[in-house]
Amino acid sequence: MILPKSNRLAPEQVAEITEIVREFGCSIQPIVGAVRTIYAIVGDERDELMINRLEGLSYVERIDRIQSPFKLMDRRSDLASHRIRLGGVTLGEELLVVAGQCTIDPKNPNYFLETAAAVKEAGAHVLRGGVWKPRTNPYTFQGDSKSIEILMEASRRTGLPVDAEVMDEEQLRVALDAGVHMLQVGARNALNYSLLRSIGRAVAKRDTVVLLKRSIHMGTLSEFISAAEYIAAFGNPNVLLCPRGTSPTLDGYRNHPDESITPLLKEKTWAPVVVDPSHSVGKASYVPACALAAVAYGADGLCIEAHVDPSHGIGDDPKQALTPAVLAETIAQCRQVWSLRHAPAAGRA
Ligand code: PEP
Ligand code: MN
Repeated sequence: MILPKSNRLAPEQVAEITEIVREFGCSIQPIVGAVRTIYAIVGDERDELMINRLEGLSYVERIDRIQSPFKLMDRRSDLASHRIRLGGVTLGEELLVVAGQCTIDPKNPNYFLETAAAVKEAGAHVLRGGVWKPRTNPYTFQGDSKSIEILMEASRRTGLPVDAEVMDEEQLRVALDAGVHMLQVGARNALNYSLLRSIGRAVAKRDTVVLLKRSIHMGTLSEFISAAEYIAAFGNPNVLLCPRGTSPTLDGYRNHPDESITPLLKEKTWAPVVVDPSHSVGKASYVPACALAAVAYGADGLCIEAHVDPSHGIGDDPKQALTPAVLAETIAQCRQVWSLRHAPAAGRA
């Protein structure tokens, strides 16, 4: 990773470093941070001669050679000072709340429009709404591209930025053309490296934020962070890590809640952690406790399913969506836990 002396390199300087690394089979990927642009060397960057030549350039401050499978997302990376902003919140400074329906019902748009107003009233900063849905049963409702218009109409009416899952390049294109602010990579696609690369490329140099869910097939935390690295390495470091439960091991919970990995992630990466308590436990009555636990473990945000009338929802909403009243109470309590965690205290991780 090349750290320039100035905020960004001039085009002829980029051309010069590109030419040097090309001789060693590498390429340059600029990563635009809030304060300065850094230049990732894509490829095997261990060649001493290449490093020496780059270090010798008058406009290069230093070459960061972190030995980590996730050089950009590593806590020790120069990018650690990068701040992600969404919905008026700077991650890490205030608890970010993403809330809304699992699935938008294109036949009943009013439910979503009412849910949008209600989650805003409850204190959410970002509105979630599933347009396209990954389903376990291929014969169930898979979502509908028409729902993107309902999502964007809700965004216009409330002023909230919106989050939707994309599962392929066509959906990615439609979502970005429509102006979706946060792209969700679902648990089933978190290891789909070609999709991660496409997203990284498509959102390079934009403010778009990516909510990367943890796959139930991820063996190690490094694998999770490396998936985020795929997105960042192609140009967009605005990645939020989202634990959402792993394979169920307990009768009663939909998945095995994994909010407790938050401190472990934070030891390795600077990426903010936004926990999804809804899919973790899968039942509305268990969601508030899971949300509180997530904040106690140090989460920077929450992604919660909510619906004005869960029993008339589709997808996951009938079983796990919170009503606006319960959502409002949960957000208020989580903010109290956030304040407790962020109050000065000795010896806390
Ligand atoms: C969702 O957010 O509705 C969803 C399908 O989540 P996950 O990918 O975590 O299953
Ligand atoms: Mn869902």
